[in-house]
Amino acid sequence: MEKPRLIREDGLRHDGRRPDELRPVRISIGVLNKASGSALVEYGGTKVLAAVHGPREISQRHILLPDRAIIRCRYHMLSFSTHERKSPAPSRREIELSKVVRESLEPVVISEVFPRTAIDVFVEVINADGGTRTAAVTAASLALADAGIPMRDLVVAIAVGKVSGTLVLDIDEAEDMYGEADMPVAVAPSIGLITLLQLNGVLSREEFSEALKLALKGASQIYEKSREALRDRYMKVKVEE
Ligand code: ADP
Repeated sequence: MEKPRLIREDGLRHDGRRPDELRPVRISIGVLNKASGSALVEYGGTKVLAAVHGPREISQRHILLPDRAIIRCRYHMLSFSTHERKSPAPSRREIELSKVVRESLEPVVISEVFPRTAIDVFVEVINADGGTRTAAVTAASLALADAGIPMRDLVVAIAVGKVSGTLVLDIDEAEDMYGEADMPVAVAPSIGLITLLQLNGVLSREEFSEALKLALKGASQIYEKSREALRDRYMKVKVEE
């Protein structure tokens, strides 16, 4: 990919967004009828599908816990989701991101309700254009809610980046590739809990506070859309019944 001019003369970003503007967010819940719960989340060109199976008993009983459910997570990119064919075999990055997504969700799931069971979360990146881990966390949390798993709050995630010296919300692939910093954040807004904060690159103390503020602002917009999508889904089911 050729390097675009990341901040244009008019102060807008290479795709015409303001620095504090999200890409268009689209959310569909309950898109699969074989999974216990599912959600398709799009942040601009990034499209991620999450499916949940469980809580259920599994044959590997030795890994189950006596007092709560275990959460297992697989983050995977489909071969056609990137410019160059991605090998379907799990890469080191995918193994790491599976852990990152799981750890972003664990603090909100009330797993004590289902001892000796497993909750499996499968994430497939269908199209990658930056921010796949953050879209994955949002999609996974909505798929858990769709599966009826009790949670303290939804978790939504978004990345803030620094490009050409400017802090920008919801970075895309070009901004990730050519920018100076990338800070994904996952938050459970109603209980005021940050469940993920990573920083790749260097920010000053002031920039860090500003970036966090920007991330929380973006997260609250995604949270509203998520709640709206859940409401739409369940109001519709009720009417159809
Ligand atoms: P995130 O997707 O959470 O931003 P990274 O910062 O690791 O995670 O990746 C940034 C972007 O780089 C991805 O969203 C994707 O567009 C691209 N990318 C990641 N892995 C690959 C890959 N194996 N092949 C091609 N592009 C990739």
